[in-house]
Amino acid sequence: MTGGLPMEIPGAGLPPRVRIHEVGPRDGLQNEKTVVPTEIKAEFVRRLAGAGLSTIEATSFVHPKWVPQLADAEALFPMLDGLGATLPVLVPNARGLDRAMALGARRIAVFGSATETFAARNLNRTIAESLAMFEPVVARAREAGIHVRGYLSMCFGDPWEGPVPVAQVVQVAKQLMDLGCDELSLGDTIGVATPGHVLSLLAALNEKGVRTDTIGVHFHDTYGQALANTLAALQHGVTTVDASAGGLGGCPYAKSATGNLATEDLVWMLHGLGIETGVDLGRLTATSVWMAEQLGRPSPSRTVRALSHKES
Ligand code: MG
Repeated sequence: MTGGLPMEIPGAGLPPRVRIHEVGPRDGLQNEKTVVPTEIKAEFVRRLAGAGLSTIEATSFVHPKWVPQLADAEALFPMLDGLGATLPVLVPNARGLDRAMALGARRIAVFGSATETFAARNLNRTIAESLAMFEPVVARAREAGIHVRGYLSMCFGDPWEGPVPVAQVVQVAKQLMDLGCDELSLGDTIGVATPGHVLSLLAALNEKGVRTDTIGVHFHDTYGQALANTLAALQHGVTTVDASAGGLGGCPYAKSATGNLATEDLVWMLHGLGIETGVDLGRLTATSVWMAEQLGRPSPSRTVRALSHKES
């Protein structure tokens, strides 16, 4: 037994601290079949903040028709005042930005695609049309002093197009950053990336002037590669890693039910490497066990299962 904590043995050439961008309440719950009551969502975000997560993507101001799981954004967001965590929200377009700004959101994210097929299926637009749609959104947010994250999905593989060329991802990423985004999140939406691919994309982005300190990584564990890919990114100097508490949210476009990298699995590795996260792993695990009860099924996170084993 480890007493619930990994043995701490630092690795060489790694950052001393990583900022975890927790996506469970948004990316996680949006991809769960169950629609969670607003009060439970608010309690979930409160518990995540209580476990020490400093950035928690809280909800999405997408049209309720498209994502009924997050249709309560207007009711939820004001319930999260004063948590001491920053609470980014996803905005798909100008209307979404209006709604988010009306509630005082200080950080937003837009959601782009590196491939034409996913842009067409998810955004009903070409890549160029989606960037044109984001342009005034990012500009207006920046004018208001709002921090903007640009998600780029399908950065490694696409279920319809297959492997996605690095040069293509870099081109769209550069355009997204040139709109004025503060941060770029590289999404491995179907979880097919391997570490060499991650390193080649990061190097190619750097070559085109996208700095490592503006890049976050968003890995999915479909093929069990998320932590290997994360470690490669950390060795490259990346210090922002996306993860979802308890591994919430399968990807509807991947054949497997396994989706987002579980925050607990990430924290176990980071703390084992002596990397600071500010997260209390015990409290986080308890939160995911509680959330799994709300959803009526066990967490897919190996770390959650291992740490909660004795109680089950
Ligand atoms: Mg995801």
